[in-house]
Amino acid sequence: MAGENCIFCKVVTGEIPAAKVYEDERAVAFRDINTQAPTHALVIPRAHVASLNEAGEADEALLGHLLLVAARVAREEGHAEGGYRTVINTGAGAGQSVFHVHVHVLGGRALTWPPG
Ligand code: 5GP
Ligand code: ZN
Repeated sequence: MAGENCIFCKVVTGEIPAAKVYEDERAVAFRDINTQAPTHALVIPRAHVASLNEAGEADEALLGHLLLVAARVAREEGHAEGGYRTVINTGAGAGQSVFHVHVHVLGGRALTWPPG
């Protein structure tokens, strides 16, 4: 089910322009508008899933695919050796601000742990 006012559904349809770095039949990856690292991409499913909380068994392969796309984007951005971070914020308390599940791919600078 598409989220009618979901900005990432609009990125999928092209209604909202985005700097895409990868796309296939199930996923789209594009640069975050408010970059937190030299590489900061978002990997999203074409299908609307609000967050990990709303994902179910039927989404199992899709979620795995998002992670493989994240690794592909990181590799293509040159971070396979130096390392990169993949983040999925779930819920407002964890910093989720767009309720269409997405994997952040951050690379190109030293990343500390634990995250803030
Ligand atoms: P969250 O806070 O939900 O984990 O991550 C949402 C991300 O989406 C944020 O990093 C934010 O900068 C990014 N974002 C929000 N609106 C847009 C947009 O219209 N275009 C792009 N490319 N990124 C967006
Ligand atoms: Zn959506």
